[in-house]
Amino acid sequence: MTSKKTIKAVGLLSGGLDSTLAAKVVKDLGVDVHGVYFSMPWGCCDKAKAFEAAQKIGIKFITLQLDERYLEIVRKPKHGYGSAMNPCVDCRIHMFSRAAQYMRHIGADFIFTGEVLGQRQMSQLRHSMKWVEEGSGLTGKLLRPLCAQLLEQTEVEKNGLIDRKKLLNLSGRSRREQIRLTEELNITEYNQPAGGCLLTDKNFARRMTDTLQYGYRNFRETIALKWGRHFRINKDFKAILGRNDDENTSLLRYAHKDDTIMQFSYNAGGTLILKGPQPNSEILSIAAGLIQRFSKFKNEAPQEINYWPVADKNNIQTIKATLINDAQFDKIKI
Ligand code: SF4
Repeated sequence: MTSKKTIKAVGLLSGGLDSTLAAKVVKDLGVDVHGVYFSMPWGCCDKAKAFEAAQKIGIKFITLQLDERYLEIVRKPKHGYGSAMNPCVDCRIHMFSRAAQYMRHIGADFIFTGEVLGQRQMSQLRHSMKWVEEGSGLTGKLLRPLCAQLLEQTEVEKNGLIDRKKLLNLSGRSRREQIRLTEELNITEYNQPAGGCLLTDKNFARRMTDTLQYGYRNFRETIALKWGRHFRINKDFKAILGRNDDENTSLLRYAHKDDTIMQFSYNAGGTLILKGPQPNSEILSIAAGLIQRFSKFKNEAPQEINYWPVADKNNIQTIKATLINDAQFDKIKI
């Protein structure tokens, strides 16, 4: 007696409305679904929500970390940027290529996504969806269940692994039909389309451009791009000043071992991370001036600021701040 082979698929799962709905549609066709969540260095969609969505639907959940390879794509995307520094087509090619590796690793039959034809200008137009499919080596093996009926048939459908008639024909920017379907299918857990991808944010993009221009030590360095005020002192040194307790704590947690921590000896201003090895007194004094500028001593005489290397927290020393005028401030602000 031969038993019917279980069809296995890898689904890209951000935990948002579309990818969650796509996972539910494919799962309900009897497919063994492995949801892959891509973790951006600086965070993006809520991973906990994506995990909850996977649990609720009853699919497996795997996280893949985007790292230096991704940053190099952000530096020079073959298909260009969207509104800011978002290389959407190349971003998808990279993610889908990695998901394809995972698909081969677990012996899955195909990949699917929650893409909807015409929903996003850069990456969900018919031709860019084709580029992504070909660029990631997934020709015929990339299923878009939410709009499959509007696209060319995939091998997955032609080979009878999935019945095309059970797939959807959604298009455009409105999400009304998806919301109706989530209610019908009892999907209650998904990420709301909140802030979205930080690469589409112009302030974040300026910081990213600076980081890629002056270099980074590893992808963890880019995590801190989302916190604090950023200053480029010279090509070797950059300062990040926390704006509140949460940012101060986060910046401390992600400081590199070669960085220097600076703050008042008492609670009078933010914590500053001076990035770059072995700063001289001139650099330290400028960084101290930044702390003073954002403290209640802004218009007072230069203050004394404590500093110590991340790698030697007992080696606390003091430096007098250089007062930073508006012109200097504008020059170094990122
Ligand atoms: S919006 Fe951001 S995460 Fe989404 S495809 Fe574009 S670059 Fe990638």
